[in-house]
Amino acid sequence: MAYVISEACISCGACAAECPVEAISEGADRYEINPDVCIECGACADACPVSAPSAE
Ligand code: SF4
Ligand code: SF4
Repeated sequence: MAYVISEACISCGACAAECPVEAISEGADRYEINPDVCIECGACADACPVSAPSAE
C-alpha cells in the first residue's frame, strides 16, 4: 500500500515539497511516488490542487 498520483497531475510540485520522507519525484508525464518510501501520511493529497494523489 502506498499513495499513487493519477493522470490529473499538473506537475506543480506542491506535493513533493510537503512529503516528509521525500518519496515524490518528477517523472516523465507527472510526479511519481516511490511506494517503498511512502509512509501513507496523506500530506501530498492535502497539498494537491487537483486531488491527484490517492491511497492505492
Ligand atoms: Fe509522501 Fe505522505 Fe504522500 Fe506518501 S502519503 S507520498 S509519505 S506525502
Ligand atoms: Fe501533481 Fe498534485 Fe503533486 Fe502538483 S501537488 S505535482 S498536481 S500530484
